[in-house]
Amino acid sequence: MFGSVPRPMWERLIAPDALHRIPLALRLLLLEHATDGRTVLVDGGVGDKEDDAFRDRFAVDGPTLPAALREIGVDPGTVTDVVMTHLHFDHAGGLTHRDASGTLVPTLPHARHFLQVSNRDNCLAPNPRERASYLRENLDPLTDIALELVDGDAEIFPGVRVERSDGHTVGMQTVRVEGGGRVVRYLADLAPTHHHMRLPFTMGYDMCTQTVMDEKARLIAAAREEEAILIFEHDPVVVAARLVEERGRVIAQPL
Ligand SMILES: [Zn+2]
Repeated sequence: MFGSVPRPMWERLIAPDALHRIPLALRLLLLEHATDGRTVLVDGGVGDKEDDAFRDRFAVDGPTLPAALREIGVDPGTVTDVVMTHLHFDHAGGLTHRDASGTLVPTLPHARHFLQVSNRDNCLAPNPRERASYLRENLDPLTDIALELVDGDAEIFPGVRVERSDGHTVGMQTVRVEGGGRVVRYLADLAPTHHHMRLPFTMGYDMCTQTVMDEKARLIAAAREEEAILIFEHDPVVVAARLVEERGRVIAQPL
């Protein structure tokens, strides 16, 4: 998760276990759109399609997506839209599952799923390094009816914008929400934890670290200008932060 950052530095930020794993969240964003009554979910977590060896390797725990929605009083059948930041299994896995007959089906049957067309193509022909992260079982059950392909930056609803980002993987999208004079940005894997707001803190998982740093620099400039609240999908502790300047350096101050 910390790429070329030396372990003595990052292990003080997030302590690893005996198998060198660190705790990470799978934090989703749910938008209840006041003006047009839509319920929009961003990403779907890892899901429950994988076998025990997979779950052990990553020490996956926590509720399934439908259970997590019900815990906060949302009926999964009422979710109208999903923004898929990208098809890596830890972001898209929960959006499909096996029904009682073993058939792969969408988890949110009435939702449209917004995905960058370049990310769909990436999943259809993954490079060798990402092949284990792009599983067809996370794409194929979302039929043409459920899938809404987006090409580049787009305002998908009033105040809800997706912005294409290619450094982590080709065709990822972050989400920018504006309303009531406030801006919230959901960063997906552009900055998985608040520690990653430091430019050189990139992941071994990133396909192009230079592009990540360029995209992050642009994001930081925009977020400072609009005083945005930043939300971190994988941060085990910090849900959201705002950027502040401290001793000449921009840092993410947890909210
Ligand atoms: Zn990813």
